[in-house]
Amino acid sequence: MPTNIEPSSFYLKYLQDGGEMGKLTRAFDWSQTVLGPVDTWSQSLLTTVSIILRSKFPMFLWWGTELIQFYNDAYRPSMGKHGKHPKALGQRGEDCWPEIWPIIKPLIDQVISGGEATWQEDALIPIYRNDTLEDVYWTFSYSQVIDGHGGTGGVLVTCFETTSKVNTQKNIIQTLSELAESEARLSNLITQAPVAIGLLKDRELIIETANNKLLEIWGRTEEVIGKTLAAALPELEGQPFLQILDDVYTTGKAYYNYEVSAMLENDGVLKKYYLDLLYQPIQYEPGRTDSILVVATDLTKQVQARHTIEESALQFQQLADSIIQMVWVTDAKGMHEYSNKRWYDFTGSDFETTKGEGWNQMFHPDDRARAREKWEHSLKTGEPYEIEYRLINKNGDYVWVLGRAAPFYGAEGKITKWFGTCTDINDQKILMQQKDDFISIASHELKTPITTLTASIQILNRMKDNPSAKIFPAVIEKANKSLEKVNLLIKDLLNVTQLNNGQLHLNKSQVILSELIAECCSNIRAEGIYTIRTDGDMGLSVYADALRIDQVIVNFVNNAIKYAPTSKEILITIEKITDWAKVSVTDKGPGIPSHQIPHLFERYFRVDSSGSQYSGLGLGLYISGEIIRKHQGEIGADSEIGKGSTFWFTLPI
Ligand code: ADP
Repeated sequence: MPTNIEPSSFYLKYLQDGGEMGKLTRAFDWSQTVLGPVDTWSQSLLTTVSIILRSKFPMFLWWGTELIQFYNDAYRPSMGKHGKHPKALGQRGEDCWPEIWPIIKPLIDQVISGGEATWQEDALIPIYRNDTLEDVYWTFSYSQVIDGHGGTGGVLVTCFETTSKVNTQKNIIQTLSELAESEARLSNLITQAPVAIGLLKDRELIIETANNKLLEIWGRTEEVIGKTLAAALPELEGQPFLQILDDVYTTGKAYYNYEVSAMLENDGVLKKYYLDLLYQPIQYEPGRTDSILVVATDLTKQVQARHTIEESALQFQQLADSIIQMVWVTDAKGMHEYSNKRWYDFTGSDFETTKGEGWNQMFHPDDRARAREKWEHSLKTGEPYEIEYRLINKNGDYVWVLGRAAPFYGAEGKITKWFGTCTDINDQKILMQQKDDFISIASHELKTPITTLTASIQILNRMKDNPSAKIFPAVIEKANKSLEKVNLLIKDLLNVTQLNNGQLHLNKSQVILSELIAECCSNIRAEGIYTIRTDGDMGLSVYADALRIDQVIVNFVNNAIKYAPTSKEILITIEKITDWAKVSVTDKGPGIPSHQIPHLFERYFRVDSSGSQYSGLGLGLYISGEIIRKHQGEIGADSEIGKGSTFWFTLPI
């Protein structure tokens, strides 16, 4: 032992450094303890305390019979913020740790009595610190410290508080169990999800999981799990999905598509499905696809329902477009929403022009207010709409139509739409007009000869007692002429009725045309004012109804006299053209405007329809046309204004 060093400083050298605990240990009045002042301490105690104070590892020492305590800065935190520290320094073990003394005393004794050092890992030793009894975990070892005499000087505790490690472990376990629980919940959720979900692993697309819905769409059971997709669903061959999945696997890019149609076998039958499909690659390392998540929403029912609706809408449209009428649909307020193709063909307009109220522009100005009033009445009362009006067509002509509409009642019993049609009644309207005109003309035509006849009969009546009067024959002649006129008119009318009823019967025989012409013109020639010349093939004969053909020629010639009064010469030609006989009647009269020519053979048609200049019913040429057509021949007229007209017909030989 060096003697040149002051004893206290020599001993204190062992207690040098050691941070806060070093300071406290040095300052402590050890003389008050059983250990006595520092300079009385054994070498063994000094060395051990010095090791403790300098160590960065938590250390604690019980020394001597009373187990007086030492500890270092590293041990300090285990003492807590308040409480045991700094009282524990120099304190008797039993006084310091009453709460755990029963646990640790036996260990201390075991070590003191020369036993092996202890080793405890993560042992729970609750200690009183920070004003409460805390659960503290320790990994610690108690080891014997030999004193100068070879006996036990004390017990060195090297320890390590593992509370936070243990707590962390506990937390991890807790978290893991929670995780497992929530995973179980998640997998349950996925199994029962209404959306089809599955996981395909590796490039071979091994079915790792498939929830109930996916199995249902596939029409398979859980037996497919573990198989490759291609093996589980052989029907996918020839469909694009395996290739798409392979692309997703290699590119790592997700695939999403709406309403994909897929053929899948269900109960042995290939069925068409419509799916919203997601293939989401799952990569745990970038660039390496591990598996593909498949998410599919089954839209089959919705898509089929929509297809049915689309089909019936298409059928409606085709039906609407195929019928002759114009068809339209409005909303409950009468705004036009739909019109069929016929409407656009007729008006030459487009949807934008005639939608909503645009329709109004199509009415004839004279009909607009009347139609509107009626329409508004129907909209207000729900009564069916029916009215005749004129609409302008694409050529700018007004055409008579019959407009009809009926309300459509929706699910709630309210009118939601109006379905309407427009039927072209222009021809009927014109015909009606012609009929009206005809009746007035016919009455007028009949009235003239009947008036004359009445007058003649009145005269004869007055002269009945004097039959020798000179004018007697002249009056009878006049009465006869009037009667003949009435007869002719009635004959024409009867002819038309017969024609209308399809009752024109032909009485055919071989007829030499020139003879027929000569005979029928002899009556007309009798008037003496006109020259009627017949030219051409005088021997030509046809197989025809002589009376009917006579009627046609008489009509032609009479017209020439009536409508070409200035032309005193009428030329009749007979020609043979291949297998046809052609008879033409030519006058040098005023001619007929070319736009009128196509209508000459129509019923009731008269060039001067006001009828002021010449009397007539507009039936003669119509009847002639029917007669010739019945003979399989043709009828026509050529005319030039100022030069004259030629009326002709042909008959097969
Ligand atoms: P209508 O009984 O009125 O004479 P038609 O059918 O015989 O009827 O003739 C039709 C119309 O054709 C006549 O109204 C007349 O205007 C015209 N027409 C017929 N023949 C001639 C002609 N030779 N020259 C000019 N106009 C004619």
